[in-house]
Order: sequence, then C-alpha cells, then structure tokens
Amino acid sequence: MLDPECLFCEIGNGKIQVDFVDRTEDCFVIKDINPAAPVHLLVIPFEHVTYIDEFVGGNREIMSSMFGAATESAKKAGILDSGYRLVINQKGHAGQQIEHLHLHVLGGAKLGTMA
Ligand code: AMP
Ligand code: ZN
Repeated sequence: MLDPECLFCEIGNGKIQVDFVDRTEDCFVIKDINPAAPVHLLVIPFEHVTYIDEFVGGNREIMSSMFGAATESAKKAGILDSGYRLVINQKGHAGQQIEHLHLHVLGGAKLGTMA
C-alpha cells in the first residue's frame, strides 16, 4: 500500500521526481538530500512500511531485498572494501524523521563513532 501523504511513497511512484541511483523489484536507492558522509544513500522499499516491527511474525523479504540493494549500491559507489555503515532509525529516540522505512548507507570517509 502507498500513502499519498508520504514523501518516499511519492518518490517511489514517480510523482516527485528524484534520480534513482539503483532500483530492484522491491526497493529504490536515492542520494540523501542532506548527506552526513561523502557517500550517503537511502535504500527505500516501494511498499509503505513505517517500522521494522511490522515484520514481527514474517514478511521479512523486503528487509532482505533492502540489505541486498545496500551492498550493491555500496559496491557501485566504490565503498565496499573501504567500509560503510548501515543505519535504520526507528521512532523518536533514534530521530526518525520520515515514517517510511529506509536504510542509510554511509561511507567514503572514516565515520565518527556511534552515539
Ligand atoms: P531519518 O532521520 O532516518 O528518517 O532519515 C531521513 C533522511 O531523509 C534524512 O537523512 C534526510 O536528509 C533525507 N531526506 C529528506 N528529504 C529527502 C529528499 N527529498 N530526498 C532525499 N533525501 C531526503
Ligand atoms: Zn510511504
């Protein structure tokens, strides 16, 4: 299901035009508009999923696709060997801004330590 109020649904369905770095059957990859590292990509499922906890009890194929797309994108960006960080912010304490599940791929320089 798509949510017409949701930015990432609108990007996924092409109503808001953003260049895709990559796409698979289940998800698309875009550059983060406010990069926190030299390489900062977002892997986003086409389906409107808000939180990982919606996968409790099954339907984990999307997560698998997201991690697959993340490593492919890291490879294309040339950061597979130098190292990268995968981040999924969930809810308030993690500072999740967009309530459509997405995986951050960060790299291209030595990253700071985690909070
Ligand atoms: P989060 O805090 O995990 O919800 O991350 C949301 C991310 O989406 C932030 O890093 C934003 O910079 C990024 N973002 C917001 N709007 C856009 C956009 N139109 N295109 C690409 N990235 C965006
Ligand atoms: Zn959405």
